[in-house]
Amino acid sequence: MLTCGCGRWMHTEGIEERMDGSAPAWFVRFECCGCHWKVGAEAPVDEAAKLADRLMWTDEARHVLDRMPPYVAPLVRHDVEEFARSKGQRVVTFTLLAQARNGGTVAWDHDAEQRLNNVPGPVRAMAKVELERTALERGQARVTIALMEEVKAKYFGMAAKG
Ligand SMILES: [Zn+2]
Repeated sequence: MLTCGCGRWMHTEGIEERMDGSAPAWFVRFECCGCHWKVGAEAPVDEAAKLADRLMWTDEARHVLDRMPPYVAPLVRHDVEEFARSKGQRVVTFTLLAQARNGGTVAWDHDAEQRLNNVPGPVRAMAKVELERTALERGQARVTIALMEEVKAKYFGMAAKG
């Protein structure tokens, strides 16, 4: 645990999944309960998971939950947290959420995957998450070309081009 300059404990306030490096890492945010000073640290997933002081959702997983209808979200939240506990996980990640809801991670159609590989690196990680998130929200187990076209138009404001 971290201690703030004011002498109080700092609790974990949020976790962001980072996919831009070579190995998966999390950016963990801490906040002091006393003076509300905030600090963040990036760490490999194994180490970062140990920093969570309670059952937490990453921003990426929470974002999916936030977009669900208000009458569904509490039920999903409960089920997913039960699933996390049964797996001995203290952090609900985007992937764990997908496993809890679909019984597996989101798969990619071969042609959709190939098209993703043509997307420039920095944008690719974002596009990948956005597409898997959309598939997940719809209860679709796969990312397809059709979904890519749709998401491209919706989020990137581009006309669908070959
Ligand atoms: Zn403080």
